[in-house]
Amino acid sequence: MKRCDTMGTILVVGSLLLTSGVSLSSLDMFSQGTHHFHRGFAPLAPACRRLSPREGGKVTSPHLFVCRPNAVTVRCSLGQHTHWTGCSRAAQDNPDFTEARMNMVETQIMARGIVDPGVLSAMRKVERHRFVPKQYRSLAYADRPLPIGEGQTISQPYIVAFMTEILELERDDKVLEIGTGSGYQAAVLAEICDAVYSIEINAVLAEFARKNLTLTGYSTVNLRAGDGYLGWPEQAPFDAIIVTCSPSAVPEPLQNQLAEGGRMIVPVDVSYGQELILLKKSEGDLVRDSVLPVRFVPMIRQNGSQY
Ligand code: SAH
Repeated sequence: MKRCDTMGTILVVGSLLLTSGVSLSSLDMFSQGTHHFHRGFAPLAPACRRLSPREGGKVTSPHLFVCRPNAVTVRCSLGQHTHWTGCSRAAQDNPDFTEARMNMVETQIMARGIVDPGVLSAMRKVERHRFVPKQYRSLAYADRPLPIGEGQTISQPYIVAFMTEILELERDDKVLEIGTGSGYQAAVLAEICDAVYSIEINAVLAEFARKNLTLTGYSTVNLRAGDGYLGWPEQAPFDAIIVTCSPSAVPEPLQNQLAEGGRMIVPVDVSYGQELILLKKSEGDLVRDSVLPVRFVPMIRQNGSQY
């Protein structure tokens, strides 16, 4: 294989079969989204991915794809139209998608009016691609919900941000989520509040969420596999409750477990579709407001029937 040299223009066009070994400098370059392009690298990996385009010697886009195992194709040119393709193990195992995530916050979330700095910072920080099944990673920052298995979905990023902002969370609020799913919303909550509780009825997803939250450093989130309709009475009252599956009426136990001054956001299935309902407890009464038409998966019982 030929090497890249920072003095040249079109420097390497190579293809080689790999057996073992990893170049640390190339791994660094791939794993740091804006790392400057350095001379001389020998990316070695069992599978090949591509990063493009690069400008001025910096990675500017995290688009990746896998090509054939045990082979790598390298092409680079420097100067004004720097363009580079290559592969590394790090790019495969640890693409950080930073730019895609920042872009998501700007174009999908801020552009639609979310302003709470805590929410924006959480959305910038939590690595959504680590909460979706591997085959959907490249779509993790798209403006849409995504399948997470078991017929369930992770919500569109904007909806996560919207529901989080409307809860007006403070660091010391105690929050309950119903419908852990992938664990992503729970991680966003954990960036903002110290005490996060989340219940998931599907045992496979409860395990998926536990794994995702552990691997991403949010193991402080308290998880329970069970029926969230019943809430988490031992830990009540909660300052905020977020329901991410849709019941046909606001569950009574959740109303009772809301603290005085507490807020609950819940997608209620009404005759014409679903509405996000915001409830606030004031002097023991619940003040109810309909805030946004939405579409969530149904809230179900252990026997699969819908609440
Ligand atoms: N908040 C999740 C997405 C939730 S999808 C995320 O960030 O990924 C809705 C989830 O609610 C599904 O995982 C579904 O299994 C769960 N669910 C449905 N009914 C439930 C119930 N009664 N109690 C707890 N979870 C429930």
